[in-house]
Amino acid sequence: MKITIAIDGYSSTGKSTVAKQLADWLEYIYVDTGAMYRAVTLYAMRKGLISDGFFDKESLIKKLEDINISFTRDTTSGKAEVCLNGENVEQYIRTLEVSSFVSPIATVSEVRAKLVEQQQRMGEEKGIVMDGRDIGTVVFPTAELKIFMIASAEERAKRRYNELVERGDDVNFDAVLSNVVERDHIDTTRDDSPLVKAADAIEIDNTETNIEDQFHTILQLAKD
Ligand code: C5P
Repeated sequence: MKITIAIDGYSSTGKSTVAKQLADWLEYIYVDTGAMYRAVTLYAMRKGLISDGFFDKESLIKKLEDINISFTRDTTSGKAEVCLNGENVEQYIRTLEVSSFVSPIATVSEVRAKLVEQQQRMGEEKGIVMDGRDIGTVVFPTAELKIFMIASAEERAKRRYNELVERGDDVNFDAVLSNVVERDHIDTTRDDSPLVKAADAIEIDNTETNIEDQFHTILQLAKD
Protein backbone atom coordinates (compact mmCIF):
# COMPACT_ATOMS: atom_id res chain seq x y z
CA MET A 1 0.00 0.00 0.00
CA LYS A 2 1.35 3.42 -0.94
CA ILE A 3 1.60 6.00 1.82
CA THR A 4 2.31 9.70 2.38
CA ILE A 5 5.73 10.51 3.87
CA ALA A 6 6.28 13.94 5.46
CA ILE A 7 9.86 15.03 6.10
CA ASP A 8 10.30 18.22 8.10
CA GLY A 9 13.16 19.81 9.94
CA TYR A 10 15.64 22.65 10.14
CA SER A 11 17.50 24.14 7.17
CA SER A 12 20.12 21.95 5.51
CA THR A 13 19.48 18.85 7.59
CA GLY A 14 19.57 16.76 4.40
CA LYS A 15 15.78 16.46 4.12
CA SER A 16 15.75 16.67 0.36
CA THR A 17 18.59 14.16 -0.07
CA VAL A 18 16.80 11.47 1.91
CA ALA A 19 13.39 12.41 0.47
CA LYS A 20 14.72 11.97 -3.07
CA GLN A 21 16.37 8.65 -2.20
CA LEU A 22 13.11 7.37 -0.70
CA ALA A 23 11.01 8.54 -3.63
CA ASP A 24 13.38 6.87 -6.13
CA TRP A 25 13.47 3.64 -4.20
CA LEU A 26 9.73 3.45 -3.53
CA GLU A 27 8.79 4.90 -6.94
CA TYR A 28 6.91 7.72 -5.23
CA ILE A 29 6.48 11.34 -6.28
CA TYR A 30 8.92 13.72 -4.57
CA VAL A 31 8.04 17.34 -3.83
CA ASP A 32 10.57 19.85 -2.48
CA THR A 33 8.33 22.53 -0.94
CA GLY A 34 11.32 24.74 -0.07
CA ALA A 35 11.87 25.11 -3.83
CA MET A 36 8.32 26.49 -4.13
CA TYR A 37 8.95 29.19 -1.48
CA ARG A 38 12.29 29.93 -3.15
CA ALA A 39 10.60 30.35 -6.56
CA VAL A 40 8.12 32.87 -5.07
CA THR A 41 11.12 34.71 -3.59
CA LEU A 42 12.87 34.79 -6.96
CA TYR A 43 9.69 36.23 -8.48
CA ALA A 44 9.64 38.99 -5.84
CA MET A 45 13.32 39.76 -6.48
CA ARG A 46 12.83 39.93 -10.24
CA LYS A 47 9.81 42.21 -9.89
CA GLY A 48 11.79 44.61 -7.73
CA LEU A 49 9.66 43.90 -4.66
CA ILE A 50 12.75 43.45 -2.50
CA SER A 51 15.17 46.27 -1.78
CA ASP A 52 17.43 47.34 1.07
CA GLY A 53 16.64 44.13 2.91
CA PHE A 54 12.87 44.79 2.93
CA PHE A 55 10.12 43.40 0.76
CA ASP A 56 6.87 44.95 -0.38
CA LYS A 57 4.43 42.54 1.23
CA GLU A 58 1.22 44.18 -0.06
CA SER A 59 2.41 44.20 -3.70
CA LEU A 60 3.54 40.60 -3.43
CA ILE A 61 0.11 39.57 -2.11
CA LYS A 62 -1.57 41.40 -5.01
CA LYS A 63 0.65 39.62 -7.53
CA LEU A 64 0.21 36.13 -6.09
CA GLU A 65 -2.30 35.10 -8.70
CA ASP A 66 0.25 35.85 -11.42
CA ILE A 67 2.65 33.35 -9.91
CA ASN A 68 2.47 29.83 -11.23
CA ILE A 69 4.75 27.22 -9.69
CA SER A 70 5.17 23.83 -11.31
CA PHE A 71 7.72 21.05 -11.55
CA THR A 72 9.44 19.53 -14.55
CA ARG A 73 11.68 16.49 -14.80
CA ASP A 74 15.25 16.89 -16.00
CA THR A 75 15.53 14.42 -18.89
CA THR A 76 19.07 13.28 -18.08
CA SER A 77 19.14 13.18 -14.27
CA GLY A 78 15.43 12.44 -13.80
CA LYS A 79 15.46 15.10 -11.06
CA ALA A 80 12.32 17.19 -10.42
CA GLU A 81 13.11 20.87 -11.01
CA VAL A 82 10.98 23.86 -10.14
CA CYS A 83 9.46 26.20 -12.74
CA LEU A 84 8.30 29.76 -12.23
CA ASN A 85 5.64 30.70 -14.77
CA GLY A 86 6.87 27.95 -17.07
CA GLU A 87 10.59 28.80 -16.80
CA ASN A 88 12.87 26.24 -15.18
CA VAL A 89 14.47 28.34 -12.40
CA GLU A 90 16.24 25.56 -10.50
CA GLN A 91 19.69 27.12 -11.09
CA TYR A 92 18.62 30.51 -9.67
CA ILE A 93 16.84 29.54 -6.46
CA ARG A 94 19.68 28.10 -4.34
CA THR A 95 21.82 31.24 -4.15
CA LEU A 96 22.62 32.83 -0.80
CA GLU A 97 20.66 35.89 -1.95
CA VAL A 98 17.44 33.89 -2.39
CA SER A 99 18.20 32.06 0.88
CA SER A 100 18.42 35.35 2.72
CA PHE A 101 14.93 36.52 1.64
CA VAL A 102 13.01 33.27 1.48
CA SER A 103 12.20 32.90 5.19
CA PRO A 104 10.72 36.42 5.59
CA ILE A 105 8.61 35.77 2.47
CA ALA A 106 7.52 32.40 3.89
CA THR A 107 6.03 34.23 6.90
CA VAL A 108 3.32 35.78 4.67
CA SER A 109 0.08 33.87 5.32
CA GLU A 110 -1.26 34.49 1.80
CA VAL A 111 1.90 32.97 0.29
CA ARG A 112 1.63 29.95 2.58
CA ALA A 113 -2.08 29.46 1.85
CA LYS A 114 -1.43 29.43 -1.90
CA LEU A 115 1.45 26.96 -1.71
CA VAL A 116 -0.13 24.70 0.91
CA GLU A 117 -3.25 24.37 -1.23
CA GLN A 118 -1.15 23.34 -4.24
CA GLN A 119 0.88 20.89 -2.11
CA GLN A 120 -2.28 19.27 -0.77
CA ARG A 121 -3.58 18.83 -4.34
CA MET A 122 -0.28 17.16 -5.32
CA GLY A 123 -0.71 14.75 -2.43
CA GLU A 124 -4.23 13.65 -3.28
CA GLU A 125 -2.70 10.62 -4.87
CA LYS A 126 -0.88 8.39 -2.34
CA GLY A 127 2.75 7.56 -2.90
CA ILE A 128 4.35 10.91 -2.19
CA VAL A 129 7.38 12.09 -0.23
CA MET A 130 7.23 15.80 0.57
CA ASP A 131 9.83 17.75 2.49
CA GLY A 132 9.59 21.16 4.14
CA ARG A 133 8.81 22.76 7.48
CA ASP A 134 5.06 22.23 7.94
CA ILE A 135 4.34 19.03 6.04
CA GLY A 136 3.55 16.81 9.02
CA THR A 137 1.77 19.57 10.93
CA VAL A 138 -0.22 21.49 8.29
CA VAL A 139 0.00 20.06 4.77
CA PHE A 140 -0.52 16.37 5.62
CA PRO A 141 -1.37 16.09 9.31
CA THR A 142 -2.55 12.51 8.72
CA ALA A 143 0.59 11.35 6.87
CA GLU A 144 1.36 7.73 7.71
CA LEU A 145 5.06 8.46 8.29
CA LYS A 146 6.46 11.71 9.65
CA ILE A 147 10.17 12.35 10.08
CA PHE A 148 11.65 15.39 11.81
CA MET A 149 15.32 15.94 11.00
CA ILE A 150 17.81 17.83 13.11
CA ALA A 151 21.59 18.36 13.09
CA SER A 152 23.96 20.88 14.63
CA ALA A 153 23.96 24.35 13.02
CA GLU A 154 27.72 24.09 12.30
CA GLU A 155 27.33 20.80 10.49
CA ARG A 156 24.36 22.08 8.49
CA ALA A 157 26.22 25.24 7.49
CA LYS A 158 29.19 23.11 6.39
CA ARG A 159 26.91 21.06 4.12
CA ARG A 160 25.25 24.14 2.62
CA TYR A 161 28.62 25.85 2.17
CA ASN A 162 30.04 22.83 0.32
CA GLU A 163 26.99 22.70 -1.95
CA LEU A 164 27.35 26.37 -2.85
CA VAL A 165 31.11 26.03 -3.47
CA GLU A 166 30.43 23.00 -5.68
CA ARG A 167 28.01 25.13 -7.73
CA GLY A 168 30.81 27.66 -8.19
CA ASP A 169 29.25 30.36 -5.95
CA ASP A 170 31.62 32.76 -4.22
CA VAL A 171 30.56 32.36 -0.58
CA ASN A 172 31.90 32.84 2.88
CA PHE A 173 31.33 30.19 5.56
CA ASP A 174 30.30 32.66 8.28
CA ALA A 175 27.65 34.17 5.99
CA VAL A 176 26.25 30.70 5.30
CA LEU A 177 26.23 29.86 9.01
CA SER A 178 24.41 33.10 9.90
CA ASN A 179 21.86 32.45 7.15
CA VAL A 180 21.14 28.96 8.50
CA VAL A 181 20.74 30.27 12.06
CA GLU A 182 18.63 33.24 10.92
CA ARG A 183 16.29 31.06 8.85
CA ASP A 184 15.82 28.65 11.77
CA HIS A 185 14.92 31.60 13.96
CA ILE A 186 12.38 33.04 11.50
CA ASP A 187 10.92 29.60 10.71
CA THR A 188 10.42 28.66 14.36
CA THR A 189 9.03 32.02 15.53
CA ARG A 190 6.68 33.05 12.71
CA ASP A 191 2.98 33.32 13.58
CA ASP A 192 1.65 31.23 10.70
CA SER A 193 2.60 27.53 10.80
CA PRO A 194 5.89 27.82 12.69
CA LEU A 195 8.40 25.03 12.29
CA VAL A 196 7.64 22.56 15.05
CA LYS A 197 7.95 18.81 15.36
CA ALA A 198 4.58 17.08 14.92
CA ALA A 199 3.64 15.09 18.03
CA ASP A 200 3.72 11.83 16.06
CA ALA A 201 6.93 12.55 14.09
CA ILE A 202 10.07 10.49 14.56
CA GLU A 203 13.09 12.68 15.26
CA ILE A 204 16.36 11.85 13.53
CA ASP A 205 19.58 13.65 14.45
CA ASN A 206 21.99 13.21 11.57
CA THR A 207 24.89 15.36 12.79
CA GLU A 208 27.07 12.28 12.78
CA THR A 209 25.05 9.71 10.85
CA ASN A 210 26.08 8.69 7.39
CA ILE A 211 23.55 9.26 4.61
CA GLU A 212 23.29 5.57 3.66
CA ASP A 213 22.50 4.46 7.24
CA GLN A 214 19.93 7.20 7.60
CA PHE A 215 18.27 6.21 4.33
CA HIS A 216 17.98 2.57 5.41
CA THR A 217 16.54 3.56 8.81
CA ILE A 218 13.83 5.68 7.20
CA LEU A 219 13.14 3.16 4.44
CA GLN A 220 12.56 0.51 7.11
CA LEU A 221 10.12 2.84 8.89
CA ALA A 222 8.27 3.39 5.60
CA LYS A 223 7.98 -0.36 5.05
CA ASP A 224 6.79 -1.14 8.62
O1 C5P B 1 13.94 23.69 2.33
P1 C5P B 1 14.62 25.00 2.00
O2 C5P B 1 15.76 25.29 2.91
O3 C5P B 1 14.96 25.12 0.57
O4 C5P B 1 13.48 26.08 2.29
C1 C5P B 1 13.72 27.46 2.13
C2 C5P B 1 12.87 28.25 3.12
O5 C5P B 1 11.50 28.15 2.74
C3 C5P B 1 12.93 27.79 4.57
O6 C5P B 1 14.00 28.36 5.27
C4 C5P B 1 11.58 28.26 5.10
O7 C5P B 1 11.65 29.62 5.49
C5 C5P B 1 10.67 28.17 3.89
N1 C5P B 1 9.83 26.97 3.89
C6 C5P B 1 8.66 27.00 4.62
N2 C5P B 1 7.80 25.96 4.58
C7 C5P B 1 8.08 24.88 3.84
C8 C5P B 1 9.28 24.81 3.09
C9 C5P B 1 10.15 25.88 3.16
O8 C5P B 1 8.37 27.99 5.31
N3 C5P B 1 7.21 23.87 3.79
